[in-house]
Amino acid sequence: MAAPVVVVGAGLAGLATACRLAGAGHRVTVVEREPIPGGRGGRIERDGFAFDTGPTVMTMPGLLADTVAAAGSRLPEVITLERLDPAYQAQYADGSRIRVRATPEDMRAEIAAVSGPDDAEGFDDFVAWLGALYEVEMDNFIDRNFDSPLDLLTRPGPAARLLGLGGFGRLGPAVRRFFDDDRLRRLFSFQAMYAGLPPETALALYAVITYMDSIAGVYAPEGGMHAVPTALATAAERAGVTFRYGVDVEAVLGSGGEVAGVRLADGEVLRADAVVLTPDLPAAYRTFFPELTPPLAVRRGSYSPSAVVWHLGVRGGLPADRAHHNIHFGQQWDEAFEALIRRRELMPDPSRLVTVPSASDPSLAPEGCSTLYVLEPVPNLTGPVDWTVETPRMRERLLAFLDREGYPTDVVTEELFTPLTWQRLGMEHGTPFALAHTFAQTGPFRPGNVEPRRPGVFFAGSGTVPGVGVPMVLVSGKLAAERVDAWLGRP
Ligand SMILES: Cc1cc2nc3c(=O)[nH]c(=O)nc-3n(C[C@H](O)[C@H](O)[C@H](O)COP(=O)(O)OP(=O)(O)OC[C@H]3O[C@@H](n4cnc5c(N)ncnc54)[C@H](O)[C@@H]3O)c2cc1C
Repeated sequence: MAAPVVVVGAGLAGLATACRLAGAGHRVTVVEREPIPGGRGGRIERDGFAFDTGPTVMTMPGLLADTVAAAGSRLPEVITLERLDPAYQAQYADGSRIRVRATPEDMRAEIAAVSGPDDAEGFDDFVAWLGALYEVEMDNFIDRNFDSPLDLLTRPGPAARLLGLGGFGRLGPAVRRFFDDDRLRRLFSFQAMYAGLPPETALALYAVITYMDSIAGVYAPEGGMHAVPTALATAAERAGVTFRYGVDVEAVLGSGGEVAGVRLADGEVLRADAVVLTPDLPAAYRTFFPELTPPLAVRRGSYSPSAVVWHLGVRGGLPADRAHHNIHFGQQWDEAFEALIRRRELMPDPSRLVTVPSASDPSLAPEGCSTLYVLEPVPNLTGPVDWTVETPRMRERLLAFLDREGYPTDVVTEELFTPLTWQRLGMEHGTPFALAHTFAQTGPFRPGNVEPRRPGVFFAGSGTVPGVGVPMVLVSGKLAAERVDAWLGRP
């Protein structure tokens, strides 16, 4: 009989872990406190509108396909994905626009038209550079369990190749080598923000995130982003995983030093030979191991900036000149990140993302209406902003911005998430983006997915390896499942 394993949390990391473990023949129970799967990738349904409360930029569908396949399903059986073209539309403060097109040929033509032939040529070299970075980073540094930073020494080849590609230089100058047009430099480096880093000074190796969206493509799931956790949950269920929704795990139980299972809030005990914890890592330590000192980075690390997300159901359709994802760049750049990340203040001239899921799937809004998702990066709660005062002001600013940019603003229903919301949901310092990907908090330096002081306990999710974002937490599920396999298979 297969050994029982409990996974705490049905966010994307927990679901990916469950798919992998069930596929490997383990007996898996997932316990989730919310009534639905998804975690940060949640869903609010109200007044005929469906709002995805977390990720909107879906990249690297191959990782989703691999995860689902590990549980014995094929991707098209559980989800329909459409590649977006343009992936993004960038709108600049001077009124100009650049679309990130789906194929390199179309993107090259777009750049030639808006920035000239030299930058179009630079784009070819940029694509080749990004592809080389991705190739060396994915297998050697991202999709890999490290037992210690010394493991890096066992693979000097890939590290040397990364060095040769300029991966340890700065991202701003690296991208400038390829493009003269400042607009393109912003368009191809802003993704560092996803890792909680300022684009100018982030290490160039984080350009791999630009590869994942601008080159490998952005996808829209039919039914909205919540279709992603639903697909994973379906694949896991088909593979025999049991789901327990609407109940908290209260304690991790041990016997003779090794993990023995979990206790639920209603007192029920689920026996397990291994437990995988996916709540935000600091919350996991606080809740389950108050007697243990968490890893240094968890206690004193540098956490990513947060975000305000305003969900609006509005009357009216999207103007013809807007896309599914619209990035509105502010005039300021380095100064904006200096304010956000170093001084931990609101950006004086913010860049914002406006996503309109109903543009790709009209079923997400009533007829003649739209769902809007407006995201503004803001400091996490280690900064001085008082959100009890700032929240209504932020709403007014976002409303004025939408109006100015020509989006429909006849609001039917709305929900505003601030750092206080993320804090209430258990996220450290009110950021849903976990520890920033500074070099000292990346790869073998990030808090690991094994808790050696509690044998049989493992972690997955954005606070551990490899890191933040849908692709990364899917990989984190795979890495955690490998740990469990090794633990249960030990002699
Ligand atoms: C606003 C926003 C925008 C984002 N945009 C993007 C994007 O565009 N593209 C991208 O790739 N990524 C994006 N991300 C990041 C991405 O969504 C996250 O990195 C990822 O979803 C985290 O998944 P997780 O499984 O690690 O954590 P979670 O989703 O937080 O999963 C943890 C789960 O554990 C449950 N839980 C906690 N404690 C307990 C307990 N005691 N008992 C039972 N259950 C418990 C929680 O309810 C939760 O469901 C975004 C995130 C947010 C919030």
